[in-house]
This record gives sequence, C-alpha cells and structure tokens, in this order.
Amino acid sequence: MSKAKLTDTTGYETIEQEGVYHDPQQEVKEGYGTLSVVGIGPGGDDHITPKALKAIINADMVIGYTTYIKLVRHLIKDKEIIRTGMTEEIARARAAIEEAQTGKKVVLISSGDAGVYGMCGLVFQVLQEIGWTRDQNPVLNIIPGISAINSCGSLVGAPLGHDFCGISLSDLLTPWPSIRKKIDCAADADFVIGLYNPASGRRTRQIVEAKEIISKYREGSTPVALVKSAYRHQQNIVMTDLDNFLDFEIGMNTTVIVGSSQTIVYDGFMITPRGYTNKYTWDGDVLEGQQPARSLVVDDPEADKAKELSQDQLMREKRKEQRRLKRLKREQENKNND
Ligand code: SAH
Repeated sequence: MSKAKLTDTTGYETIEQEGVYHDPQQEVKEGYGTLSVVGIGPGGDDHITPKALKAIINADMVIGYTTYIKLVRHLIKDKEIIRTGMTEEIARARAAIEEAQTGKKVVLISSGDAGVYGMCGLVFQVLQEIGWTRDQNPVLNIIPGISAINSCGSLVGAPLGHDFCGISLSDLLTPWPSIRKKIDCAADADFVIGLYNPASGRRTRQIVEAKEIISKYREGSTPVALVKSAYRHQQNIVMTDLDNFLDFEIGMNTTVIVGSSQTIVYDGFMITPRGYTNKYTWDGDVLEGQQPARSLVVDDPEADKAKELSQDQLMREKRKEQRRLKRLKREQENKNND
C-alpha cells in the first residue's frame, strides 16, 4: 500500500500513514464544532463525492442557497436547515461559523466546488475578520466537488484536453473592465475558456461583449458548447460555434465553453487534442526529429525572429567596424601626406 504524506508548512507535524492521509483538522477537540464547506457537484446524487455525502448525512445543520438546499433535500429531512437568498452570502457565512462554534456539525453547501466562485473564500474572509486560527473552534473541513467546467465538459466530450481557464462574467463584485481584460488575454493566449455566470435576467450585455473580444482572436467556426443545468432535470446542451452561439438561450444556469484554435468537433463531441500526433504515429512510433519524454521540437517563430535580429545586429556591428577601419586608414594616409 502506498504511503500518503501530508506536509503542512504552518506548524503541524508531518504525519505518515499506510494508505490514507491523516488530516489534523479531523481531530475534533472536546466542545468544538465543525464547519464543513462542501461542494455538492452539479446536482444529483450521482455526482456528489462520498466524502461530501458523508458530511451532509452526519450534519446537525445544513446551510445554503435555496436552490442548492433543494438539490439535497432528500438527504437532510432530519436536520436543521438555514436557507438564504442569493445576496445574503455574508450572513450565510457568518451564521455557519457561529452555529458551528456552539458545538454543532454544520455543513455549508455550494454547487460544484465550494472554492470555485463559491462560499469557501468568503468563509475564510469572515474567519480572518474574527481572528480565527486553525487551533480554534470550529474545526474547518473543506470538501471538494466537481466544478461546472468539469461536469459540463464531460457532457460535451473532452474540451479541456489542453490549457483552459474559467472566467466569471458576473460584474456584481468585479469591475467589468477587469473581466474584459481577462477575456482578452485568455483569448489571445489561446486558452479554452469556461464562462461561468454568463448571463442572467439583468446581465445580458456582458456575453455579447465577450463574444466580440474572443472573435478578435478566433475563427467564427470555433466550437462553442452551451451547457444548461448539467446533470439536473432541466439539462440542455447546445453545440454551436463562435459566430452563432448568441442565437441560443444562455441563462444563469448555463456554462459556456469556448474552444481554442485547436478544438474540433467530431460526431457531435467537442475535443481539444493534447497533441499526441505532433510526436507519435498511430502505431506508437516517434516522429522524425522528436524524442519521447523530451520537449516537443518545434519551429519557434519567436526564436527565429530573435536569431534574425541578432544577425541584423551582427551585420550592423560589422559595417560599423569596417567604417572605423576605413576612417583610421584615411587618417593615417592624411598624416603621411602632411
Ligand atoms: N461553485 C460553482 C460555481 C458557482 S458560480 C462550481 O464550481 O461549479 C454559478 C455558475 O456556475 C452558473 O452561472 C453556471 O455558469 C455554473 N454552473 C453551476 N452549476 C452548473 C450546472 N449544473 N450546469 C451548468 N452550469 C453550472
């Protein structure tokens, strides 16, 4: 069995155990409560992790946005429940911490992964604000979940096979110019882009501008997938392209995946290849000029440009030297003539 090792740089000792890793946060001291910040995945029991499920089933109290509470309601019939609206996030985080401090097992739920545009960051801000440290009540557990980019990606093929990024189009807490710049840089750098919070009843202009920015760098035929309510009853998937995706419904339960210049569509699947065929044949042989387990050898236009520049520089230096020698010679001749 493999040895798992947890190294903590904050003063906890390193603990080694056969097969499992030991989480010092799991040791609940007498009288302490626990606050588990849990990502429940896209929705539906099939895509929640066993660890998240366990935390919910063992909880005394479950706190979350009404829609997420609904997704797990069959698991929490016997529990205290605090439902809150969308704009009450600070109150929700505060309530979760305070309730856990009374000794309860509290679960704060987010959809997808709680750390991805979820409640986890806010919980840390509130904890910081009250001066909480790791040894204090409550014990904090962060339990990962499948984020929308992963669940939506799985429904359309393998769009994230190469470098990708997530950008939220919500400008409720982030200035629009900063979001615009991120879209521009991501499009320029050829990332596959997962657009979270692409639109809502009131937020309709941002996705239009996002399209305009991305279109500066990518072909109109670039594959785009619109995935609404992945793995929920209302699930709907549209495979389209950059030129046409705005003709379809995009709402607050949609994630928009925009392909890179390498993304293709094959039999309705959206695929971003990792590039195996740049190095290998289908028989597994290595292509001429390449080596397995070594960096891919490519024509590098930047390096070629740098080489060209240094050639130019050399020529200029050479001509300068020739001019200097000529001048010296002329001076010498003049001296001899005097
Ligand atoms: N913490 C969540 C993201 C919250 S932000 C996560 O990790 O997935 C909310 C946005 O996430 C939505 O506007 C939508 O873009 C995306 N999203 C969340 N769940 C989704 C689902 N089941 N299907 C499609 N998109 C989803």
